[in-house]
Amino acid sequence: MRISPPTRRAFLVGAAAVSLPLCVRAQAYQPGGALNIVKFDRPGDASVNSYILVGPRSQVILDCQRTAVEARQLVAMARGLELPVEAIVLSHEHPDHVGGAQVVRDAFPDAAMLASETTHDVIRRDGAAMMAEMKRFFGPVMPDAVPIPTRILRPGERLRLAGVEWQVDQLGPCEAAGMTMLYAEAQGILFAADLVGNRVTPWLVDGHTTAWLAELVAARQRYAGVGLALPGHGSAAPMVALVDEQRAYLESFRAEVMATIGTAQPTPEALSAIRSKTESRYPGYPKVAPPPDLIERNARAVAAELARR
Ligand SMILES: [Zn+2]
Repeated sequence: MRISPPTRRAFLVGAAAVSLPLCVRAQAYQPGGALNIVKFDRPGDASVNSYILVGPRSQVILDCQRTAVEARQLVAMARGLELPVEAIVLSHEHPDHVGGAQVVRDAFPDAAMLASETTHDVIRRDGAAMMAEMKRFFGPVMPDAVPIPTRILRPGERLRLAGVEWQVDQLGPCEAAGMTMLYAEAQGILFAADLVGNRVTPWLVDGHTTAWLAELVAARQRYAGVGLALPGHGSAAPMVALVDEQRAYLESFRAEVMATIGTAQPTPEALSAIRSKTESRYPGYPKVAPPPDLIERNARAVAAELARR
C-alpha cells in the first residue's frame, strides 16, 4: 500500500547532495491471533523501519523515523487506524530511529515513551547536540529536540503491548550504545531493531563490531524459533536467516579491512578498494544512513576498532 505519491527532494549531506526518495510505503504482517503488524518505511538509501503493533483495542509505535517528513507520514498512518496509541518505543539512540520522535510524541501526547536506561541517558545527554548536527544536513525538516523517554524499560521486564505479552531483551554495545528488543516468544515474533538488517549496508561507525558479533552468536541460539523478526532496516524474515546474513557481512568486512588496512593508517586508495570490494560482494545494498561515503566511514571505524584489540 502506498500512502503518498513519490516525490524526490535533495538533502545536503556534508559536501555532497543526496537525493532521498520521499515516497513511503507500508507492509502488513499478520502473525496470527488478534495482532497485526505494519512496517513503515520508504525505499532506497537511508531508509529506516518503524513498526506499528496493531492490537484489538490499541496500537504501539516502534521507532520514529529520521526526519519530521517521514514522522508525519507515520503519524498519519497511526491516526488512520483509529486506535489509541498506548506507547511509543525507542529501540536505541541513533537519529534514524529517534529523530522524528518529537513529531510522534506531539501527535500522541498521552502515550508513554519507552526506552532503555542507556537510550534514555544518551538522549538526555546528547539529544540536543545530535539534532543540531542533523539540522546541518537536513535543515528545517529535523525537529528541534528529542523528547526524553518517560518510562525506562528494564532488561527482562515483561509488558503487554497491543494485547500481546512481550519481554524486554536488552543488549549492550553492538550497532549502537545499546539495543532494546521486544520478544513475544509464544508468537515467535521479535522486534530485533538494528541487531540485524536485511540486505542493507550497515552502520559500523560506532566501532563495536566485536561485541556485535558476540551478540549475534547468542541471538542465533536464543531466537532459533523466531519466524518473524522485525529488523531496523530491510524486510522481516526468520531471525536465524537475518543473524547469519549480518554475521557474514560483519566478518567479511572485518577481514577486508584487516587485509587492506591492517594496523596502518587508512589511505584513500585503501578505503576506495574496500568500497569497491564491498559493493561487488553486496551489490545494490542500500545504505542505512545518508552519507554517500558510508562504506569508507565504516572501514575507518572498523580499522580503529581492530587496532585497539
Ligand atoms: Zn538504524
